[in-house]
Amino acid sequence: AKDAGGNRYEVADPDSDARAIDRHSLTTHLPAALERDEFFLEFQPLIRMSDGTVDGAEALVRWAHPVHGRLGPDRFIPLAEHTGLIVPLGRWVLEQAVAQTCTWASGLPLRVNVNLSPRQLHHPDLVPDTIAVLEAAGVEPSALCLEVTESALISADEAELKPLWQLAELGVDIALDDFGTGYSNLANLRKLPATTLKLDRSFTQGLQRHPADPVDVTFVEGIVSLAHALGLAVTVEGVETEHQAGQLRELGCDTAQGWYYARPSSATEFAREWATS
Ligand code: C2E
Ligand code: CA
Ligand code: CA
Ligand code: CA
Repeated sequence: AKDAGGNRYEVADPDSDARAIDRHSLTTHLPAALERDEFFLEFQPLIRMSDGTVDGAEALVRWAHPVHGRLGPDRFIPLAEHTGLIVPLGRWVLEQAVAQTCTWASGLPLRVNVNLSPRQLHHPDLVPDTIAVLEAAGVEPSALCLEVTESALISADEAELKPLWQLAELGVDIALDDFGTGYSNLANLRKLPATTLKLDRSFTQGLQRHPADPVDVTFVEGIVSLAHALGLAVTVEGVETEHQAGQLRELGCDTAQGWYYARPSSATEFAREWATS
């Protein structure tokens, strides 16, 4: 609020005014933040639509900023991507996420999804680093899914895709994130190492309405049949209502993620909530 007064900072809530925080100052503090362990992960379950059980978890990074409070990734990932800090930060995320799956022993999925930025994708250490992290934790490659945005993959040439193919050959799953927002040539799908399409939230929103937007229904139906024909699984993002979940299940989507099932939460809370499911 305005009356906080003077030049005092307020502790921000996750969605507070982005403009109030100086991007330059955030950018310069990123390296120290990584050293001081100010980043932390939250986990959101991926739910099998066939039976409602949990199939895995997506790791989502947050920054516990000493002045501004908790910051969401949209506030600092683009800055880290710009400066290159995303490479060590992304490696930290991978390590933490993979280590976390080991502590979730019985009753919980050992599968974890980790987001990769374009800059990580193009870094020469991606393959050796990923293998090293998995080996150090004693985790099978098939327990890891790397999420790469459709736009990052679509613009990549053959040489740039090679590391992902190598990881895919080792058994790491590759998901095409934010699918539907990248204007990709659908025929290109078969040339990508992806095993899963994550259909962007913007395409599942129309299914919240009663009745659902017929254009959105047709779109989802088409994508699901194309994906399945190509041997890809379909995950839907942003499922917020029961109505929407029911329709997406009927349309043949394999896995779902969204507030209807669970918001992202700490590893401890995630385990408490899902270990008994
Ligand atoms: P994303 O990969 O598309 O992740 C899904 C985002 O949707 C997350 O936002 C999640 O909290 C949010 N979400 C989940 N369910 C719902 C729902 O039902 N409704 C709505 N409205 N939103 C939902 P979050 O955590 O703020 O992350 C934003 C983006 O930041 C992510 O989008 C991803 O692109 C990026 N990101 C997060 N963690 C990392 C990371 O470790 N590395 C990289 N490179 N990027 C990351
Ligand atoms: Ca993602
Ligand atoms: Ca996404
Ligand atoms: Ca997104």
